[in-house]
Parts: sequence; structure tokens; C-alpha cells
Amino acid sequence: MAETVNAIKDRLRMRAAHSMALSSSCLRRKVGAIIVDPEGVTLGMGKNDTMGNFARCGDGGCPECAKAVVGSASCLCVHAEQRAIGWAAELGFALRGATMYVTLVPCPMCAKQIVACGIKRVAFDGRYEGDGLARGILQAGGVVLWPMETEAEKALPARRGWPGHPFYWEG
Ligand SMILES: [Zn+2]
Ligand SMILES: [Zn+2]
Repeated sequence: MAETVNAIKDRLRMRAAHSMALSSSCLRRKVGAIIVDPEGVTLGMGKNDTMGNFARCGDGGCPECAKAVVGSASCLCVHAEQRAIGWAAELGFALRGATMYVTLVPCPMCAKQIVACGIKRVAFDGRYEGDGLARGILQAGGVVLWPMETEAEKALPARRGWPGHPFYWEG
């Protein structure tokens, strides 16, 4: 069966999220996110990395990411989902009813933020062990979850978590 126009658009948006991810310099993980309104207009996008005029993570901008075991509150990198939501806020776009395309299942913190700002659908690509908490938060918050599992994700074995992190998934 031929792919529908909407399915092609969805796949292109996830590919755009992967492009965002590839531009991340984060030493820990590269994740990308795109938010679109119900008409498909882009409202925000982001990658996990340091932000603003901070030195980039890959240039030593985040001391926590440079350590062997991931830190917590002292990490200076923002998550792709946070950055995309922040981008929309900076531009003055409301996110109620919007869809987020993100290259990896969000973490529980981002899941709460996604619910809180009214995003109604999350298309994700990669998975990690322990992602059930975040998926549960999103579902309880009324967010429709959509696993895409595109070829772009399968081609990127780097997305397998943090060594030393409780969510680390070997395999
Ligand atoms: Zn980082
Ligand atoms: Zn997160």
C-alpha cells in the first residue's frame, strides 16, 4: 500500500528531528525534537546541548557531561524537548493541541513538561530500558503516544543511554 501524504509528512518531521539530534554536541547523548501545530506548522525545535551563549557541551561547556557518570541538577545541557518548548515560548506560540516528534522517548521530567504545556501527541523513535515511567506519565496526562521506529533510528546505535545512569540500556 502506498504511503499516505500524512505518513510521508510525519516521516519527514521525524527526519528533521534526527537532523537536530545530529547537530547536538552533547557528550552524553544526541536527541532532537520538533513541535508542530495541528496544521503542521513548526512551532519549535530543539536538541540536547548547552544553550544561549554558553560554551557548547562538546567544547567542555558542561562539566557534568564530561564526567564518566552522568550528574543531575548540575548538568548544564537542556533536553531537546525542553529546548523545543522553550523555543516556542520565546516566539510566543501556544502549544495546546500540538504534536512533538522526538528521536527518543522523553525522560520523566520532560514528560511532565509536555503534559503541562498542552501538547497532545508525542511521536517518538528510540526507546530505552526504563522508559515506562515517562510513557506512563504521558498517557496519564492524556497525551497520545506514537512509536514510529523509523529506519533513521535503527541506523543510529549510539542512542543507547548513559553508562552508569539508571536508564542505561546495553543492547
Ligand atoms: Zn551535554
Ligand atoms: Zn528530558
